[in-house]
Amino acid sequence: MTARRKPRVRRGAKGMPVLSVIVPIFNEALNIENFFERLMPVLDGLKVACEVICVDDGSIDDTRQRIVEFNAQDPRIKLLGLSRNFGKDIALTAGLHAATGQAAIPIDADLQHPPELIPNLIAKWREGYDVVYAARSSRATDDPMRRAASWLFYWIFDRFSEVSIPHDAGDFRLLDRRVIDVLNRMPERSRFMKGIFAWVGFRQIGIPFEVEARAYGRSGWSLRRLMRFAIDGLTAFSNVPLIAWGYAGALVAFVSLGAGTYFLILRCGDGETGKHPAVRR
Ligand code: UDP
Ligand code: MG
Repeated sequence: MTARRKPRVRRGAKGMPVLSVIVPIFNEALNIENFFERLMPVLDGLKVACEVICVDDGSIDDTRQRIVEFNAQDPRIKLLGLSRNFGKDIALTAGLHAATGQAAIPIDADLQHPPELIPNLIAKWREGYDVVYAARSSRATDDPMRRAASWLFYWIFDRFSEVSIPHDAGDFRLLDRRVIDVLNRMPERSRFMKGIFAWVGFRQIGIPFEVEARAYGRSGWSLRRLMRFAIDGLTAFSNVPLIAWGYAGALVAFVSLGAGTYFLILRCGDGETGKHPAVRR
């Protein structure tokens, strides 16, 4: 399928970057050097003005210090430091607000998202797509618990949500400026980005990629955090939890009313003594 609309701007106007790479980073001191070693040559090869916005999401290792050092070597690398750990989706939102490029690409710092895919994302953008998402070919790098959790999440989401999100896509994607502007105007405090990316619409296409194993360290997603994330996503994009609680409330009210009526009748039937049968002597 070929997109019809040609992109409006593809060159950086007045020295503005064409591409903003947004990197949410939390405690990635061990990965950051390898990450830049792979990312920066790819950006050099694009031959367009780029910025790399590193959103330090309240790291407690020396990630922030390392970014400052890299900035001294290459001013395209910029630091946006958050005041505490807010979670990846908020970090990403902050990065999108700071981005000045004609397109933005969020990418993880742990090298699970290969920077070498960026030229392919750009190529599809140049064809006229507004969103080009990287679609993972397999979930082999996820542990069985995480795979089961995401299967269950998508199973519920597909049945009850008003938007449909591609199962194999994460945040690694290219977003055209038109999309970034819409995302930045959305006031939602619950930022379930996978859902928001799908909800905004526009001309979207996926390209496959092989997700790599995390280079160093551990995923920031504990089971508790994953569950909270899933519940956030479901409540933000479906009325079902609200309806379910509505029914639960109605059921409790109905049972209480029935019990109340029952005890009232019991009490009235015992009208001569005015005492509950249980306390009568
Ligand atoms: N991250 C973040 N804030 C967090 C947790 C993670 O900015 O609270 C960053 C992390 O440094 C990485 C990306 O988000 O660049 C993906 O995180 P992670 O690898 O933990 O997630 P997974 O790949 O397991 O989904
Ligand atoms: Mg990861």
